[in-house]
Amino acid sequence: RAKAAGGNCFRFYTPDMSAESRTRMMRHAALRHALDRNEFVVYYQPRVDLKTSRLTGVEALLRWTHPQLGEVSPVDFIPLAEESGLIDSITDWVLRRATQQVQEWTLRHGRPFTVSVNLSARQLRNEKILASVRQALRASGLHPGQLELELTESALMEDADTAAILLKELKRHGLRLSVDDFGTGYSSLAYLRRFPLDCLKLDRSFLLQNHSDEVSPWKLAEAVINLAHTLGLSVVAEGVESEEHLAFLRTTSCDEIQGSCISAPMPPEDMERLLCSTHSEQLLA
Ligand code: C2E
Ligand code: MG
Ligand code: MG
Ligand code: MG
Repeated sequence: RAKAAGGNCFRFYTPDMSAESRTRMMRHAALRHALDRNEFVVYYQPRVDLKTSRLTGVEALLRWTHPQLGEVSPVDFIPLAEESGLIDSITDWVLRRATQQVQEWTLRHGRPFTVSVNLSARQLRNEKILASVRQALRASGLHPGQLELELTESALMEDADTAAILLKELKRHGLRLSVDDFGTGYSSLAYLRRFPLDCLKLDRSFLLQNHSDEVSPWKLAEAVINLAHTLGLSVVAEGVESEEHLAFLRTTSCDEIQGSCISAPMPPEDMERLLCSTHSEQLLA
């Protein structure tokens, strides 16, 4: 197995290690070379205005395919990248790639939209991200207002004072900031006011309706959307999968939606095709 997986990088494991920790160690070693060997691709998932059905933006979602290990989910490799410190150079690459791509699309198709890049918690405790963002904007020529950074609730809470200072600095450059997966952590909306946020991404768990619950999560979603608006944040519902989800969201004042009911994350070629078709003017039936 070690041999098949590519030789001496994996020599540290011993037969008594669990299969799980062996997989982990192999991925760890392989991740070090993923950037140099061009194994990453940025996928894009559309975001749509619920009222006009128009494309408003795309989220950049990283994909890694290793020649032997196959496709590894970001849910698995992002934590490894965080532990090993590789996350800074990976994010730097995603920022450059995504801003360059969206600037190209903007120039070619004439309709500006935003691109959102996910940040990890530890990147809010480190000034490196400022240089990465400045570099990506300068190199691509993308308008700063077309770049959005997504931060999870827990990332904001971890070291809130440091994060607040860094986010204010980022905000000075004119980009947009959003809180991702809202509702999965323990922060209150009121607490989030200390950060210069533009947008709240409602976690998809709000749409997983359970009729036996005392208070339907859908009711909660509605309350959160209204409160977010009171605080001046726009709201994106994520994980919108079905007509039922869509019909519910249309009864609320939710601003945008993202999810498989529009499209799964797709490779740049497919996104390109979508932009070329008149269909992108009207992404919802
Ligand atoms: P996220 O930022 O919350 O991204 C949304 C995830 O939900 C994506 O999973 C997307 O494919 C998935 N999704 C979209 N629509 C639907 C839907 O209708 N139903 C369901 N069930 N899922 C949907 P993905 O691409 O596997 O990414 C997972 C997580 O990995 C992301 O969650 C983000 O936290 C992290 N991630 C991905 N790319 C990057 C990156 O470049 N940098 C960092 N730091 N994290 C990343
Ligand atoms: Mg995200
Ligand atoms: Mg999310
Ligand atoms: Mg999520």
